[in-house]
Amino acid sequence: MERLKPSTIVTSAAAAPKISTTRRRKQKIVVIMGATGAGKSRLSIDFGTRFFKNSEIINSDKMQVYSGLDITTNKITMQERFGVPHHLLGVIDPAKSPFTPSDFRKVGSEIISDVKSRRGLPLVVGGSNSFIYSLFAKRYDPEADVFNGLDPDPVSLELRYDCCFIWVDVCFPVLNRYLSKRVDEMLESGMFEELVEFFRSGECESVNWSGLGQAIGIPEFETYFRNFPGYRRVDGADSEEDVTRLTEGYNEAVRRIKDNTCQLAKKQVSKILRLRDAGWEVKRIDATEAFRAVMTAESGGTRVAEIWEKQVVEPSVKIVKQFLDE
Ligand code: ATP
Repeated sequence: MERLKPSTIVTSAAAAPKISTTRRRKQKIVVIMGATGAGKSRLSIDFGTRFFKNSEIINSDKMQVYSGLDITTNKITMQERFGVPHHLLGVIDPAKSPFTPSDFRKVGSEIISDVKSRRGLPLVVGGSNSFIYSLFAKRYDPEADVFNGLDPDPVSLELRYDCCFIWVDVCFPVLNRYLSKRVDEMLESGMFEELVEFFRSGECESVNWSGLGQAIGIPEFETYFRNFPGYRRVDGADSEEDVTRLTEGYNEAVRRIKDNTCQLAKKQVSKILRLRDAGWEVKRIDATEAFRAVMTAESGGTRVAEIWEKQVVEPSVKIVKQFLDE
């Protein structure tokens, strides 16, 4: 894995500053947006490992900025990062006041400057459009709400950076089926146990409920734990009747997590459309076929990889190369 080299530019203190006659060019930034589960992380790792090896990823998922609940918030694992540097991922203390879009604007722009000083390519990746908007809007008003309500505030069309927005999109019927499968996989990987630990250890008492406490999975299982004290699961049932009650309670929590995740995806897409319709130049990449292949039992991993490469990686790499060459 190629590592980033520190900048080799040496400036002479004695040299007289040159007066620039041309306007300074804005920093180039690639942004991968899209609904939860649409494949943003996978594409960012493809970029970072194969095409744009100087990439450094800046996470823009508002729940993944916090430390803890790694499975529940579906953070990319160390292994899956393949050595591509990640920023603002699991670094904010969830007990402190919530990390707001204004915080993201401030910290995100500092990270962008650092990445630039290493001659890296900042890759902003994540589904929280309030974070994306705050980071890029030239005139950002934390009080304004550009996404919600019947009469939302106007979207700032002037941007602080030169951005290439890639939107990885998957049609809803296919994405919803995939999200349901993903929740089952997250539970198989230990999401339930992670949440048991979160409540049993008392971590839930220190967490800020306007921050990480909002993560999908917490309220749904909190109801279950309240209804079934002792953090029991079906295998801890002591009668036939108990098995039925525990199974129903557990299935209800899982059903609500799946519903809420699908609702989240819908809201995220409507926010991307809001930015695009207002005039942000967002390039849509349709990843539906690759996800359809994932959902088809008989299609092996190779077929999925081929479709992903042809329909997602190739067109988006082309867009980014063109953007960087401009
Ligand atoms: P909003 O203004 O609705 O908070 P946003 O653009 O700031 O929208 P989203 O990414 O759409 O942020 O997240 C909205 C909500 O979705 C979060 O408050 C949280 O409940 C849930 N959510 C988002 N990301 C995750 C995640 N990784 N894990 C669990 N829940 C999440």
